[in-house]
Amino acid sequence: MPLPALHLPPTLRLNLRTWLLGLSLLTTLPLLVFALSVVWEFKEFQQRTLVEQLERRSDELAHAVAEKLHSTLGTLTALAESDAALALDVPNLYAHAKRIIARDPDIRAISLVTQDSILFLTAAPLERTHLPVNAADRVEAALRTHSPNVSGPFSSPVNPVQVVAVTVPMVREGEALHALRGILAVESLNQLVSAERLPPGWIAGIADAEGTVIARSHDAARYVGRPASATFRQGILATGKPTAFLGSVLEGTPTMNLVRPVFGFDWYLGMHVPQTILHAPLTEMLWHMAGLGLLWVGLSLLAAMAFSQYLLRQMKTVARAINQTSEAPLQPGPPLRVSELAALVGKFRATQRSEATMRGDRDVAVIAREQVQDLYDHAPCGYHSLDQEGRVLRMNQTELHWLGLSLAQVQGCAYADFLTAESRQIFQERFPQFMREGHIKDLEMELRNASGAAMPILVSATAIHDTQGNFVASRSTVFDHTEKKRVQAQLERMARSDALTELSNRRDFYEKAEHEMARSRRSGMPFCVLMLDVDHFKKVNDHYGHAGGDDVLRQLARLLVAQLRAVDMPARVGGEEFAVLMPGTPLAEAALAAERLRAALQATAVTLGDGQQISITASIGLAQWSADDTGIDATLKRADTALYRAKATGRNRVCTEN
Ligand code: GH3
Ligand code: MG
Ligand code: MG
Repeated sequence: MPLPALHLPPTLRLNLRTWLLGLSLLTTLPLLVFALSVVWEFKEFQQRTLVEQLERRSDELAHAVAEKLHSTLGTLTALAESDAALALDVPNLYAHAKRIIARDPDIRAISLVTQDSILFLTAAPLERTHLPVNAADRVEAALRTHSPNVSGPFSSPVNPVQVVAVTVPMVREGEALHALRGILAVESLNQLVSAERLPPGWIAGIADAEGTVIARSHDAARYVGRPASATFRQGILATGKPTAFLGSVLEGTPTMNLVRPVFGFDWYLGMHVPQTILHAPLTEMLWHMAGLGLLWVGLSLLAAMAFSQYLLRQMKTVARAINQTSEAPLQPGPPLRVSELAALVGKFRATQRSEATMRGDRDVAVIAREQVQDLYDHAPCGYHSLDQEGRVLRMNQTELHWLGLSLAQVQGCAYADFLTAESRQIFQERFPQFMREGHIKDLEMELRNASGAAMPILVSATAIHDTQGNFVASRSTVFDHTEKKRVQAQLERMARSDALTELSNRRDFYEKAEHEMARSRRSGMPFCVLMLDVDHFKKVNDHYGHAGGDDVLRQLARLLVAQLRAVDMPARVGGEEFAVLMPGTPLAEAALAAERLRAALQATAVTLGDGQQISITASIGLAQWSADDTGIDATLKRADTALYRAKATGRNRVCTEN
């Protein structure tokens, strides 16, 4: 059967795919949260590591700067405490200083200053004293506090390079009027914080307490002497333990910063890590994650597409199944929701289940039908159905086997054709009655099989009617009656015959006599009754035993049958007494026949079981039936009287009634 065309809304596919994609993405949500927490942890770790690194590196560098300053300070202190200094022996001090300059390349010059004048400067001749005092406030502070300090950058009066001054007060007798200054080139400080000594990308710088740049790892020429970044100044102003904070350097690059004091808060060291370096691993990781995420979404989309295709195919099967079983086929409608899809799948499952059940039922029914057919065909009785004309519609194998015919040979034929002539007549008489009454029971008939043999049957039938009460067919059961008939016949024979001689018994004799009497009454034909009694039979019994006597009786019966005519009817009516009905025979004829019988009996030797041969005789009395006789007994009595006479007159003779 062609399946009905199926229309599924195009939006259904999209809807399904969206759902499935959403579903697959939703399942990744916990994964995403986990990944983000990992990233966050990683970021925190990165930052901690970097801050630690920043602290360590800046500490190292601050120490290096402080060391350089202290080294200069040590040199100057030693000079300040020298005899020449104590004696304020300026030429001598100048000579000392000159020697130091020659020895220590970091110290560009040494000067001896007062509050407002320079007494000498090693970079200039001793005599040249009218030089201006740079960073005079630092001199004033040193003299006032009796403590050394370090200045911000300024240009050397003799050489226009950026320098700084380490000022050491010369304290004599508790009073400081002079100070010695070591001039350090910014360049040497720049080398100290040079980029080569830093991790790549890092920036380091030194500024004084006012926030003026003293040295810098990058672009020193441009920035030294100028104000440091706002971030650096913020770090200078912060008090307490130096901590890392976010900001930006002079170039404008966003950085992570750490500012720590050097040389008793005169200078500050700033160290900066661009935030790009800080975030680089995180960014890289995020890129990787984004890539993986995109891959996942792509794969999910593909999977959703494939799965939605698969579901659509399934749904088409479902829809077909429903269209086949439902009266209202699936109509194109709005896009299906997932719940509707689930309902549809549920319906499909139910349909499949009921189909399976029906299939199972059908199989059971087929098996049952086959079993019924088998029972029908091979039942121990015959079955057939006839139409209203008595023609065969169906017949089971058992009855066909009895007939020796095939179904094709009997179908459409009159059932009567398969009966003996006598039964055919019975059938034709009884079939209309059956049609009227609708049933018939135990009708005895005879089948006539293909070879012409008769078979007694017992037929019972019921009529089948349609809803309007019209005859449709007969349903007949046919039993094989052969055995029953045989037994019946045997019983009948036994009831009518004498067990010893197999002749008719007294009862049969009387029945036949009644029949004969009726016949004679109708036809007027005479018939006689012959009575025979064996002579001295007791002696036979006495001599040869009861068995011998029985032998005699059996052979006598055979002799009777042999000697008499076929129409004569011999019967054993007593122990050794026999009676014979002789139809159509008048008394004279009967007397002749009786005499022949007597003579034959006398002449015939009887052979006993042990081989002995004996001869016997019998006496016979005859009487003819008369229409006056009320029954056969009257005739028998007359014959018996005649027999008695025969006995009485010597035996072995025939006497007739008077
Ligand atoms: P009679 O010449 O006067 O007839 O003498 P009988 O000896 O024949 O006398 P009766 O007719 O009175 O006796 C019949 C005997 O037949 C008696 C019985 O023992 C014997 N008899 C009767 N029926 C049977 C039988 O079935 N078998 C045998 N062997 N003997 C039988
Ligand atoms: Mg007798
Ligand atoms: Mg006798």
